[in-house]
Amino acid sequence: MTKKIWAQLSERLEKIVGKNSFQTWIKPLNFISYEDGLLELTVTTRFQGDWVSRNYGDEIKGQAMRLGLKIDRIEFKIKDNQTSLTEPEKPLTQAPTKVQTLSNKNTLGAPLDSRFTFERFVVGKPNELAHAAARRVSTGDSAAFNPLFLYGGVGLGKTHLMHAISVELQHMSPDLKVVYLSAEQFMYRFIQALRDKQMMNFKEIFRSVDVLMVDDVQFIAGKESTQDEFFHTFNALIDQKKQIVISADRAPGEIDGLEERIRSRLQCGLVVDLHPTDYELRLGILQEKVQNYRLKYTDLDIANGVLEFLAHKITTNVRVLEGALTRLFAFSSLVGRQITLDMAQESLADILRASDRKVTMDEIMKKICHYYNVRMSDLLSPRRSRNIARPRQMAMYLSKNMTSRSYPEIGKQFGNRDHTTVMHAVKKIEELKSQDSQVSDDAELLRRMLEA
Ligand code: ADP
Ligand code: MG
Repeated sequence: MTKKIWAQLSERLEKIVGKNSFQTWIKPLNFISYEDGLLELTVTTRFQGDWVSRNYGDEIKGQAMRLGLKIDRIEFKIKDNQTSLTEPEKPLTQAPTKVQTLSNKNTLGAPLDSRFTFERFVVGKPNELAHAAARRVSTGDSAAFNPLFLYGGVGLGKTHLMHAISVELQHMSPDLKVVYLSAEQFMYRFIQALRDKQMMNFKEIFRSVDVLMVDDVQFIAGKESTQDEFFHTFNALIDQKKQIVISADRAPGEIDGLEERIRSRLQCGLVVDLHPTDYELRLGILQEKVQNYRLKYTDLDIANGVLEFLAHKITTNVRVLEGALTRLFAFSSLVGRQITLDMAQESLADILRASDRKVTMDEIMKKICHYYNVRMSDLLSPRRSRNIARPRQMAMYLSKNMTSRSYPEIGKQFGNRDHTTVMHAVKKIEELKSQDSQVSDDAELLRRMLEA
């Protein structure tokens, strides 16, 4: 391979991984050499190399194959910026989340959603403990539990509570430096600091906050250097008795790929979970939303029993519940009539059906076989060729999204595969869906067929 062929290969990769990922991960790579199946590329950081090899290694090899080249191994050499003659790459401007300049302390965190306040958080049995703990932390009482670790499934209010703490603290003590951001944003900041050789700055800034809140911390599991930096930041703040609030989609002990030392430190504080909603809580949330909506649009007219019906029917998560309500509001403003039970049933048919139907893994696998024209035994086999691997990944993805089966359970059904394989498959399809319309169409179509 030559530089020119690498350029061709990159072009192909851009189409596959999408513009954003390409700009962030592939474009910065420079070709060094190709010999005896070994491809050497430059990277800016070791982390970048790890990432590329983990996430795009197969794609690079696959595309090379199409160009008639066989790559057995890819090695990354860290680019020495001092002697490099190439133009400095722009910092991660295309990263999935907005990366603000590190030197601007006020923009360190992510923007807060003004709707996510304590006033608008409805408390019920499933979340009362989490709410109480969050309230407590929001008083700024440094004797409160540290860290506070909130965990629970999607859409149960973790982010809402974290924003609420932030808003409350900021309101009561405007001088307090409260920083809220997602673990993903933390990672991008960190990579950017590495790239820009701003690590001192990064450390200084993160160590000087009064309250640090990191959302969805499961994201950094398995991402070694980010975890490492997070751990150091975490320790420095705890030593200074600064409050830390963390959220994740599962308990610290259940996050795979999380280093033991981090896990045990996370468990030192207070760990509380948000339980799945119950009927009363769902009804309460719906009533709150309606009340709030009425403040702005006084003519909203909902018949008795509609909210109860929704609270009873839509049990998946609060986000879906909110979506249903939003549609009803839109509908009511369009037709200018009372929202009746009939009307709700009709206009929410798809959501209700999705919540109604319990799809089994068996059905999913059969449908996949039919759709992609593969055999059940192929799905269960260890074969990894693309024409079988992709349907299998899609089946795993649908199983995760349409049933309540856990990763290990799904892995077991698919020929006793490891749960990490399932996690990878789910991630893979999610990624592809945003880049490849064929994949997103397949996913959507399959889902609809299964829900019907
Ligand atoms: P998570 O971060 O746990 O996935 P979010 O905090 O983003 O969930 O909540 C999803 C949506 O549901 C948000 O719009 C949030 O305001 C709403 N929500 C969740 N729980 C409650 C609650 N107890 N009261 C009011 N709204 C809630
Ligand atoms: Mg969240």
